[in-house]
Amino acid sequence: MGQGNWTGACLCGKCTYEAIGEPEASLICHCRDCQRASGAAGLPVLVMRKSGFSADGPIRSFSSIGGSGRPTVRNFCSNCGSLLFGLPEHAPEIVTLYAGTLDDPSHFKPTFAQFTCDRYALSGVGLALMEFAGRAQ
Ligand SMILES: [Zn+2]
Ligand SMILES: [Zn+2]
Repeated sequence: MGQGNWTGACLCGKCTYEAIGEPEASLICHCRDCQRASGAAGLPVLVMRKSGFSADGPIRSFSSIGGSGRPTVRNFCSNCGSLLFGLPEHAPEIVTLYAGTLDDPSHFKPTFAQFTCDRYALSGVGLALMEFAGRAQ
């Protein structure tokens, strides 16, 4: 996978997506909506142009009012529940890919974090945590 071809899939593999082109932005979103939707301290987000985007599989959508004050539609696999991508109504030309679902997340290089007002200590920044390369012993 090169920089111009981003593919991803859900946990069960029934949903897949592809986005072509260069990312408009790469970020970590710490807003409470992203925390609740993902269960994570922050959501890694790849902002892509929707024109080069396609998705396949049993995708379900959930719409809620986002940080913009306009609805954001979050899309997830109806079989396994993986959160895959978002479609913000205030920016209809973009799709936000949740980078944890990329086939090769190593290409994801965030350049900023947003809603750090809602970031909490689990985000790992400045924490002196024991680290394990694999499963914690
Ligand atoms: Zn799935
Ligand atoms: Zn967010």
